[in-house]
Amino acid sequence: MSVVQMHPAVRHATTTDERKTPIIALLQRVTAIDLPSRQREHGEAAAFQAVLAANAVLTGSFLDTLGAAVPPMSWTGYPPVDDAVYAACAVAYLGSADGTRGWWLHATQRHDQLGEAQHVLALIAPCTCGTYLHVEIPDEDALIVMLDELDTAPGAPVACDYRLRIRSASYADPAHDDFEPPF
Ligand SMILES: [Zn+2]
Repeated sequence: MSVVQMHPAVRHATTTDERKTPIIALLQRVTAIDLPSRQREHGEAAAFQAVLAANAVLTGSFLDTLGAAVPPMSWTGYPPVDDAVYAACAVAYLGSADGTRGWWLHATQRHDQLGEAQHVLALIAPCTCGTYLHVEIPDEDALIVMLDELDTAPGAPVACDYRLRIRSASYADPAHDDFEPPF
């Protein structure tokens, strides 16, 4: 194994003023950066990545169902909120029976115990009691079974005692008391 010798860079002839130490150059640089707009740009980039990831999940894991039913351009990306407690996400509107309270698809990521990012896909559905349910969909087979058991008209609220609610083990709906429209 050969060792590459690192030669010091050839010094340019500079005046004393131009020769800044890295820490001075760094601090001058930082004061010139507009942090809020930089954070906004990071948030927008994360939202866009969430849209791309959502599309990839649908075509990769739900090709015969959601991948065929949800057009790729249906997604809206949202930046992380609450200091990234909630990661960036993408949502797609699935429709409504009454034109007011509808169903949504919600795609985001969370990290498992090993720190690996995992895609989390969920249905958000209105409940007859006025809340919104948030039900994770682990895979396409689970989605097919769930929709097959559902005796609700497409886009209509689900009955409050329906199994969809019982299945809702999501962190987002532990209390079944979220009356806010999701998006
Ligand atoms: Zn309910």
